[in-house]
Amino acid sequence: ATPTALMAGVGRGAQLGILIKGPDALEASRTVDTVVLDKTGTVTTGKMTVTACRPADGFTRGELLRFAGAVEAGSEHAIAAAVVAAARAELPDLPPVEGFGALPGLGAKGEVEGQEVLVGNARLFAERGIAVPDDFTAEDGTTSILVAVDGGLAGQLAIRDVVKPSARAAVEALHALGLRTVLLTGDNEAAARVVADEIGVSDVRAGVLPAEKAAVIEELRAGGARVAMVGDGINDGPALATADLGMAMAHGSDIAVRSADMVLVREDLRVVPDAIRLADRTLRIIR
Ligand code: ADP
Ligand code: MG
Repeated sequence: ATPTALMAGVGRGAQLGILIKGPDALEASRTVDTVVLDKTGTVTTGKMTVTACRPADGFTRGELLRFAGAVEAGSEHAIAAAVVAAARAELPDLPPVEGFGALPGLGAKGEVEGQEVLVGNARLFAERGIAVPDDFTAEDGTTSILVAVDGGLAGQLAIRDVVKPSARAAVEALHALGLRTVLLTGDNEAAARVVADEIGVSDVRAGVLPAEKAAVIEELRAGGARVAMVGDGINDGPALATADLGMAMAHGSDIAVRSADMVLVREDLRVVPDAIRLADRTLRIIR
């Protein structure tokens, strides 16, 4: 494409809320045949809420929320924000957390009132060898967060996220363009399935650790696919950089925005098919 044509593409993109970092991004979008969508914060709003709070034997609801809320106050994860909001809604103040540590793709830990508190998913609890009774392991389509105090289960919190109203139409538009779609997430399989069914995506890769997201993109590329990745999290950075075309949501982390070839300013997910069609149009005019 000529420089003039590319300039036209960049200008048209800006009008649509698509910031294009360089000429290669426009070229790449023309050849893409597979679109990988991150779930949390990309397909969903990322504004989560706690919908259930189940203390384990020996713990009260207040204690469960106090320990979980105190640790999550140290985290920047969207799940943490929901847990802190739920805790603060019922408790006047939360105790401080010491030695906070984020466990990417798994949860978070810290010391609260002299006790070791662990907050995170079933995978984390399995890794740490913390026993979780059957009635706390059922996956009902929510994101299940387990809480342990000094190595014993203190309870479970169910977290719900909301699918963006535009997501289904965006996926339909991508399919109409002949593109294959994949939902990629660190969340559990059942929660991922609920979202995938709602938006019409059949290929789901769930329970993927942050470090493995890029490997999924590699694997698709090795199979001959030309891959666009859409994401927003710190954990999406390597996958965005590995994809043939990385698209970051503008609200996303610095790492995501820096790793991407395009930045999507509109929260409406139809910006994704728009971005792919944009290059098609611009570069066709040019030839
Ligand atoms: P996604 O790919 O959906 O953006 P992440 O890789 O950030 O998800 O997180 C994957 C999973 O790790 C979450 O669904 C949750 O189970 C767990 N997790 C990560 N951080 C936290 C946290 N601060 N508190 C509780 N759970 C967490
Ligand atoms: Mg995300």
